[in-house]
Amino acid sequence: MLGQLGVGLAKTRDGLLGAIRRLLPANRKMTPELCEDLETALLAADLGAASAASLMESVRESVRQSGEADAASVRKVLKASIAERLRRPGGSEAVPPSQGASPHVVLLVGINGVGKTTTVGKLAALYRREGKRVVLVAGDTFRAAAGEQLALWGQRVGADVIKHKAGADPAAVAFDGLAAARARKADVVLVDTAGRLHTRSNLMDELRKTKRVLEKGMPGAPHEVLLVLDATVGQNGLAQARLFHDALGVTGVVLTKLDGTAKGGIVVAIAGDLGLPISYVGVGEGVEDLQVFDPDAFVEAMLGEE
Ligand code: GDP
Repeated sequence: MLGQLGVGLAKTRDGLLGAIRRLLPANRKMTPELCEDLETALLAADLGAASAASLMESVRESVRQSGEADAASVRKVLKASIAERLRRPGGSEAVPPSQGASPHVVLLVGINGVGKTTTVGKLAALYRREGKRVVLVAGDTFRAAAGEQLALWGQRVGADVIKHKAGADPAAVAFDGLAAARARKADVVLVDTAGRLHTRSNLMDELRKTKRVLEKGMPGAPHEVLLVLDATVGQNGLAQARLFHDALGVTGVVLTKLDGTAKGGIVVAIAGDLGLPISYVGVGEGVEDLQVFDPDAFVEAMLGEE
């Protein structure tokens, strides 16, 4: 698990550790210039201005107390401070439990191309590995290929797929999908959604409607609203997250394509600046490349020793 995450985060790790080693040979004194250079390295990894500033405050404080400003000590302080920011109450070790509700209904949202449909497939695989009965709902009726893509995932992982014709009302698909899942006694329902609509309809209104329909179909549903974000878009992801969160009440973020970027620090910005938990990370296109987010494993992969 750590190995795969390590490979996925290699670019971020090389960028950050490289900068720390370059800037901090053994026993160098911490000067204001050095602090500034370090902060720039954190910003380059996309940790976000607020997080970078407050992490540097932790570094300065630790150097003041211990007098140690070498690369190893600074790396240790950064690791501990980042892990603390990423840890959410209750931890996130397992696939979220349904808390008694059956089926456990998950609505996945996000703009086009972030990896939403792929994430639905990978998440289905994760639940299937736990022996759960999974139903996939093809709510992206705007993109014709999305339904077919989902049908393929269903075959691949052994999940039923509920699908209407292209252009159908997404909320109606969600309603039928939930009803079918309940009739089939599914454990988990994963609802894919569109990331783009015909110009005249408003995406957020449409998604709100889908959410309402799920609520109506089953009190308490959806139990999770997962926002899928592409890590390679960097700080733009934060603006997207705010928009979706305001409209829908996001419960967790899935950060995809971490393997393609040196900006893995966006995880810290999302968790720290937005206060939204990271639920899963995508570190590749394969079916196994979605991982339940583990803050300690993440920090180890990003800043741990070789
Ligand atoms: P959607 O429009 O949001 O549903 O996006 P798709 O699921 O169709 O994915 C868009 C592209 O991103 C596809 O080529 C996926 O294989 C790719 N993708 C998704 N997740 C990851 C990931 O974690 N890493 C990489 N490298 N590619 C990914």
